[in-house]
Amino acid sequence: MRDVAALVKRAAAEGFTRGEIVSLLRAEGEAAALLFASADRLRAEVFGPVVHLRALIEFSNYCRNNCLYCGLRRGNRILRRYRMPPEEIVALARRAAGHGFRTVVLQAGEDPYYTPSLLAGVVREVKRLGVQVALSVGELARADYALLREAGADRYLLRHETADPSLFAGLKPDTSFKRRCRCLRWLKELGFETGAGPMVGLPGQTIASLADDILLMRDLGVAMAGIGPFVPHPSTPLATAAPGSVFLTMKVLAVTRLCLPLTNLPATTAVGAAAAGGREAALRCGANVVMPDITPLRYRQLYEIYPGKWRVDPREGSFARWQEYLKLLGRTAV
Ligand code: SAH
Ligand code: SF4
Repeated sequence: MRDVAALVKRAAAEGFTRGEIVSLLRAEGEAAALLFASADRLRAEVFGPVVHLRALIEFSNYCRNNCLYCGLRRGNRILRRYRMPPEEIVALARRAAGHGFRTVVLQAGEDPYYTPSLLAGVVREVKRLGVQVALSVGELARADYALLREAGADRYLLRHETADPSLFAGLKPDTSFKRRCRCLRWLKELGFETGAGPMVGLPGQTIASLADDILLMRDLGVAMAGIGPFVPHPSTPLATAAPGSVFLTMKVLAVTRLCLPLTNLPATTAVGAAAAGGREAALRCGANVVMPDITPLRYRQLYEIYPGKWRVDPREGSFARWQEYLKLLGRTAV
């Protein structure tokens, strides 16, 4: 345990080596508790009690890709698909802005129906509401990202999923780790606040590769790090794989907080789906963001990236209810 205390102190001055990250990710018992407390303290020093709420709108569950872990993969023939009309997306964003959300996140599968110019039109409309716009619509050409940036999009979330190129290749047959990183570099060059992040507990993933995930996010200088456990979905080839551990996810979160003090770290829906109280635990080990899902239920039930996702938010995406709830945890929602 003294090792963890010494490491945490040194990290602030010099940053961790890969070996040190690996040993922190292996922490158990009191050493892990100390790691979580250190990350929580640093989060409090940097952000105070503030939790940023971002309203999530899942506007299409069509996807041209076939990622092995994801319930929206094109090979999942039993999923009923939906697309929200652009006016409906804008109307939802308007309601979110009216309720107090300052950021709207527009997420979908990679759905070619929404051409970059159609999406740019939606972004322009939503920007008129005076909110920040974050996009999470996968890999596009550089010129398309540029168009969306010109339309006013502020942020872009493109998780790198895993920094192990061969694991990546096995899980995402439509792209490559190299292409994913190239997209992330483009997004940064274009001035997006860029978010990456791994899934934790993917079949075949090692602790050393999780250390590489953290080092990659440090090298990229990400503004956001979306970190959540892998949750197996029954209609995918990984249906019978073991789920990712919430404890290990918390350690990845905590070490990421220590390595990237200023980065926004969401308490992801996946960590809430994997364990009761998972999001609250994440908020106590470095996380400072929550993304309430404001997608109407009839769509949300079909946006099944992993099972149980649509049921995670008992506050049903309500800004006021989240505000109240976070107050009980000693935090202030903005
Ligand atoms: N199509 C876009 C955005 C939607 S998917 C994209 O892929 O970037 C958003 C995120 O959901 C993915 O980045 C992935 O990290 C996560 N995800 C997908 N399937 C999952 C699963 N079975 N368990 C946990 N997270 C999953
Ligand atoms: Fe499509 Fe994203 Fe799911 Fe992959 S993770 S299948 S790109 S929605």
